Amino acid sequence: DPVIVWFRDDLRLADNPALHAAAQSGRPLICLFVYQTDDDIRPLGGAARWWLHGSLLELDRALRAMGGELLLFSGSAAELIPHLAGVFRAHSVFWNRRYGAAERKVDEGIKSKLKASGIEAKSYNGHLLYEPWTVATKSNAPFRVFSAFWRAALASGEPGSPLPTPSRPDFSSGVSVSGVGTTKLTDLGLEPTAPDWAKGLCANWQHGEAGAQNRLDELLDEGFSSYAVARDRPDRSATSRLSPYLRFGNISVRQVWHAVAAHAMQSGSAGHAFEKFQSELGWREFSYHLLYHNPDMAEGNLQPKFDNMPWRDDRDALKAWQLGMTGYPLVDAGMRELWATGWMHNRVRMVVASFLIKDLLIDWREGENWFWDTLVDADAANNAASWQWVAGSGADAAPFFRIFNPVLQGEKFDPEGAYVRRWVPELATLPNSIIHRPWEAAKKDLLGMDGPAVNYPARIVDHRLARERALAAFRSLAWRP
Ligand code: FAD
Repeated sequence: DPVIVWFRDDLRLADNPALHAAAQSGRPLICLFVYQTDDDIRPLGGAARWWLHGSLLELDRALRAMGGELLLFSGSAAELIPHLAGVFRAHSVFWNRRYGAAERKVDEGIKSKLKASGIEAKSYNGHLLYEPWTVATKSNAPFRVFSAFWRAALASGEPGSPLPTPSRPDFSSGVSVSGVGTTKLTDLGLEPTAPDWAKGLCANWQHGEAGAQNRLDELLDEGFSSYAVARDRPDRSATSRLSPYLRFGNISVRQVWHAVAAHAMQSGSAGHAFEKFQSELGWREFSYHLLYHNPDMAEGNLQPKFDNMPWRDDRDALKAWQLGMTGYPLVDAGMRELWATGWMHNRVRMVVASFLIKDLLIDWREGENWFWDTLVDADAANNAASWQWVAGSGADAAPFFRIFNPVLQGEKFDPEGAYVRRWVPELATLPNSIIHRPWEAAKKDLLGMDGPAVNYPARIVDHRLARERALAAFRSLAWRP
């Protein structure tokens, strides 16, 4: 009797604990993926669907190269998995864990159904360095402060070593898949058609495990030792860009951790960079810790006093932000990078989020939703935790009154304006001294009526006034019950 490996956010062969255990069992393997439509599971956004398409294609190719294939289904996993286990007369179903509340509920339901039918069901950790429930305070409570969380996590031991790709799993024992209702990848409709907005995404990303490995190699080859300082510079490509691969499990966090650790050891000089990089992976772990303990983190403020925040309902301002037409060059560059590539640099994510929440006084959930739809790395834990961090409503968040000045952030982290010139070509000819404050060009008559910057919008808010408005809104929280 076969073992079913149910792939989810672990679309890889290497260091895949569920696949590894299934291969070790010596039984024939059936590999499958369900495009899930269960109630309560948040539907993927557009960019994530595009990423998923590429990942499924590559995973199927990789399995075929070993003599297997990836069977695709669409529908409710809660119904399909027990049904398929019966149809295939499976001995076991193995999967790697997910941490969202709705996903856990579905998985628990399936586990008990399978067990009730005498089918073995086993789940593994393929997504995190430390399971959220294994890291706790001395009084056995969840952590709310990152540094304490991360110290405790590291103290609990070095993350385990990655598992190899199974060498020759048995796919060949003649399990018939005819008539079980598989779907073709193209029928899932994950790729955009009319309009096809994914051209920029295609130009920027290579799918699958090979794509992830190439990104990791580039990070380590291209002077990883400067990561700690250069990671804040959107004009350089100093970060790994591994986030979508980690999100969909095209590479595991353990693989990344150990590759970077080995590199730091060999090069001797990269200790500081390694520590910084480790702590970024730590923030990912912390986000999952928060998600696990606060299941509705994408909907509700972690600090309830923010429920009274007098957010503005300003559709025009929201639209200008989404389109990268706010008149603030760094904000607009970030939003356009996001639209074109499905990704945005971390420093700029913080600036655009602060701008939406504080300068425009728009509810952080609007921003979280937009990112959810447009990021290839849109992640239930990282996205919600990061938005709440910027809003000041989260655990261990930046205080609300710390409001980024988009001009000064630009001048500090994109000093020559290279990032802005790349994404906001209307401003390309402005001198460095005013590239982050183009309204001063108007004063100096640099724009001219036929100059390229003439199409660039005027600022939709004055940062100084907007800042005062945000602080007043925040202060109003103190008087409310
Ligand atoms: P690197 O610097 O190379 O870091 C390596 C890995 O560590 C990343 O791939 C990521 O998995 C993790 N990581 C790095 N920074 C953070 C962080 N601050 N919080 C949590 N994990 C981190 N990240 C997502 O993966 N998905 C999201 O949906 C997401 N939404 C965000 C929304 C906002 C408003 C902000 C401010 C940040 C968000 N982040 C999100 C976190 C961070 O911006 C990205 O993980 C990072 O920019 C990815 O680039 P990288 O892979 O080059 O990072």
